[in-house]
Amino acid sequence: MTLRLFNTLEREKEEFEPIEEGKVRLYSCGQTIYDDLHVGNARAYVAWDTLRRYMEWKGYTVRHVQNITDVGHLTDDADQGEDKVLKRAEELGLEPMELVEEQIERYFEDTAALNVERQDIVPRATGHIHEMIEYVKQIVENGYAYEVDGNVYMDVEKAAEKFEYGEMAKKDLQDLKEEAESRVEPDENKKNQFDFALWLEADEGHLMKWESPWSVGYPGWHIECTVMSEEYLGDLFDIHTGGKDHIFPHHPNERAQSFAGCGTGQANYWLHNEFVTVEGEKMSKSEGNFYTVRELLEKHDGDAIRLYLISSHYRSEMDFSLEGLEQAEKELKKVRKTVQRMEKVEGGEETDIDVEGLEERFEEYMDDDLNTAKAKQVLVDFVGEVNSVLEKGGSVREEVRSRLIDLFKVLGVDVDPEISEEDRLFADLLVTLRERYREEERYGKADEIRQTLEDAGFIVEDTGEGAIWLKE
Ligand code: AMP
Ligand code: ZN
Repeated sequence: MTLRLFNTLEREKEEFEPIEEGKVRLYSCGQTIYDDLHVGNARAYVAWDTLRRYMEWKGYTVRHVQNITDVGHLTDDADQGEDKVLKRAEELGLEPMELVEEQIERYFEDTAALNVERQDIVPRATGHIHEMIEYVKQIVENGYAYEVDGNVYMDVEKAAEKFEYGEMAKKDLQDLKEEAESRVEPDENKKNQFDFALWLEADEGHLMKWESPWSVGYPGWHIECTVMSEEYLGDLFDIHTGGKDHIFPHHPNERAQSFAGCGTGQANYWLHNEFVTVEGEKMSKSEGNFYTVRELLEKHDGDAIRLYLISSHYRSEMDFSLEGLEQAEKELKKVRKTVQRMEKVEGGEETDIDVEGLEERFEEYMDDDLNTAKAKQVLVDFVGEVNSVLEKGGSVREEVRSRLIDLFKVLGVDVDPEISEEDRLFADLLVTLRERYREEERYGKADEIRQTLEDAGFIVEDTGEGAIWLKE
């Protein structure tokens, strides 16, 4: 079966064909590191982690690169405003790198709690300034950029002779030009207002700056992704991903740089995730309508948050609510209980249950542009089927259990968390003791023990084969 992905460039689903057989080179635009991750940000990283897991499940070897922006991302898209990292560091009275170090650690803790695998390479912008300067030099040499007073700008009109600048956003070049003119205070340095900075001279007192042929300054925001993706994935790679807001201007600008620097369109497939909203409004820091992953983790299981996030397709808007998350949490508990029951219910007639068919349906939905919503539902429905077999006193093959666990893992959800030896021993002992009291008809004592188990997060179930415990 072939994977089809919705390529924003074409606005349609296309069959995925890797450049090199069996290999996938994947680049995701990462986080500007200055604050904790909110659920909107997390959705993007969860989506691309799911893509990576799925491609690996299909047998591809994936190299996943995701950058960390720790310099040069200005608060506005027209090269105006302040550097987001600097601004926050100044507010907190920290060195920019002090803030970045702290936040990177938090970022990895938060994403790990959502089972986002650390990407193979996580390059930081500040570690690649030299390569960026070299790349900008190349663009200037090729005639696609110009310098004005220590700043270097991309000549978008010139680059647009080489590729369709408006293709990604499906906009006419002239319209984009007019939009830029109406949007910003004219920047006298720019030939055209939609030109964008490759390098900017730093003001006196600006904390992060580097020597360059043009000025002591810092890179424009877009250049890092072009340079770091080329460095680790080559001039042309397979898949480039990011949030929907990158459809313009970040991704067309990355491509403009790539065409101007090395003559390629950077990547073959461009994928964008839709936003997470809260009561219909985009979740964002500036609107104040956000939940950080960290605060949700205080009360909720990371796997439940992940399950909730993959319960909608990455290209549809997702309206986040705590009720929705609680629902996902309930669903996860149900699945986990069934997975434990499958292991513990022994004896009974083995019912042949079609796990191969399950895999096929799962793959069919995932092949359809990563339809995690439907793929997840197929798994949850299957869990229901298994449950009714068990309820009737039957059992299923061990393989059914392990394959089900593996399919959930492809979605990044752990439905079989490890239970410590200590916990097992504790529960085993108490269940045995409870059984003994029941045999002796000392039901009050037996109930007390059940309560003790429940308080410790274990449920006792009486089956035809005796009592079993399940971890909540
Ligand atoms: P920001 O911190 O706003 O620069 O966003 C970092 C990343 O998260 C970008 O790739 C955005 O596309 C993505 N993002 C921000 N807000 C949302 C949201 N509400 N829903 C989905 N993705 C978002
Ligand atoms: Zn990027």
